[in-house]
Amino acid sequence: MPSLNDIRSTFLGYFEKQGHQIVPSSPLVPRNDPTLMFANSGMVQFKNLFTGVETRDYTRATTAQKCVRAGGKHNDLDNVGYTARHHTFFEMMGNFSFGDYFKREAIPFAWQLVTKEFGIPAERLLVTVYHTDDEAAEIWKSVGVPEDRIIRIATSDNFWMMGPTGPCGPCSEIFYDHGEKYWGGPPGSPEEDGDRFVEIWNIVFMQNEQFEDGSMRELDMQSIDTGMGIERVAALLQGTNDNYATDLIRALIEASADATSTDPDGPGKTHHRVIADHLRSTSFLIADGVMPSNDGRGYVLRRIMRRAMRHAHMLGSKDPVMHRLVPALVRQMGAAYPELHRAQPLIEETLKLEETRFKQTLDRGLKLLDEELAHLPDSAALPGETAFKLYDTYGFPLDLTQDALRERQRTVDTSGFDSAMAEQKAKARAAWSGSGEAADLAIWFDIAEAQGATDFLGYDTETAEGQM
Ligand code: ATP
Ligand code: MG
Ligand code: MG
Ligand code: MG
Repeated sequence: MPSLNDIRSTFLGYFEKQGHQIVPSSPLVPRNDPTLMFANSGMVQFKNLFTGVETRDYTRATTAQKCVRAGGKHNDLDNVGYTARHHTFFEMMGNFSFGDYFKREAIPFAWQLVTKEFGIPAERLLVTVYHTDDEAAEIWKSVGVPEDRIIRIATSDNFWMMGPTGPCGPCSEIFYDHGEKYWGGPPGSPEEDGDRFVEIWNIVFMQNEQFEDGSMRELDMQSIDTGMGIERVAALLQGTNDNYATDLIRALIEASADATSTDPDGPGKTHHRVIADHLRSTSFLIADGVMPSNDGRGYVLRRIMRRAMRHAHMLGSKDPVMHRLVPALVRQMGAAYPELHRAQPLIEETLKLEETRFKQTLDRGLKLLDEELAHLPDSAALPGETAFKLYDTYGFPLDLTQDALRERQRTVDTSGFDSAMAEQKAKARAAWSGSGEAADLAIWFDIAEAQGATDFLGYDTETAEGQM
């Protein structure tokens, strides 16, 4: 059974043999790209090669790219813990052609790798094409895919975009059928969200560029951009449909179970899955220079960290847990990603500090949440003011509250949350302008606004105690 690390080598080795340059993953924080929070796919570091703005001494490349999808156009944060195939952090393997080969080569390359190198039985595979793309459908037929396994899709699922702007194009995807014992239907069917038919590879025919004003142009050259999720391929090659049962992630789940003295497959199973996933995203983000803060990328990191910490808390851990799992991650991924080794002390310290501080309010916030829910009718949404209080006083990001509510099949009144937030801002403004020192304080206020909610581990902790 190939390990995840074996699969990465097979993929890169195969494309190297086909004349592709092996290029290292770019950092998770895209360089000079304000349109994107984190690298969310392999093509991000090659954006300017598709548009022709930049050229390099190669026209074929292959990578295993670190990706984070926890915000923006591709956001899988809420899927984690609930599907067998989504992570916030994952590795996307890809092959790229910059005006070199196009559909006629890209499809046979992919088919050969999947069915021969990886040995995946062809009868388990389905492919999709964009509904108008007769050419792609015909090429799939020519490599041996029967017509009834080529599905035409008219939605944006088969027109790939990195974000609101940038190079894009129609795409063709390969799906694997894990079999009848799992719930789910083929792509395009009403049950496509199940975990039976899993998308393993997306082949994008880069031929357009989308602009901010909504217009789109044809690119001067035709290129290829592909993305295959390494964890999904590992799952199927290791005989499971569950990414979280693969060698690498299972090791992290076991580390989480050890650190909390709980059963990895017991009632806390979902908690372990979320912890294992979030350990990877938070550690890799810190290794790439992101630090927890109250806005921008740092706030996304903080949100992910705090979610993981709530799940660790739910497992009954009294002491900080996350930092103790870092050595297991470094053992698994440090060889392929030396930056993890380098940053290990920083990752551990950052996680420990954040968890120590958050623990001071987490417990009380969760109690407040339970008390409020006890007073509400069974199906009622949590009032926005309560969610705001959890945010403002206890440091609960809104999505953490939503995640906690989801376990209880409850929701939150988000528009109530937004108005509570707006009201507090207006009040704070009014208070300052009445102080007579508005001019100086305006500067302070701008900073406070830019920072968003603070941790409130000082006076608010006491206020909170007074209220309970
Ligand atoms: P899905 O429809 O399953 O959410 P996607 O269409 O959003 O996947 P793409 O943007 O096409 O995914 O990315 C290319 C490949 O990366 C996918 O075919 C899949 O193998 C993998 N992938 C995408 N999102 C994730 C994720 N959150 N976790 C793990 N692998 C992923
Ligand atoms: Mg997706
Ligand atoms: Mg998809
Ligand atoms: Mg896709």
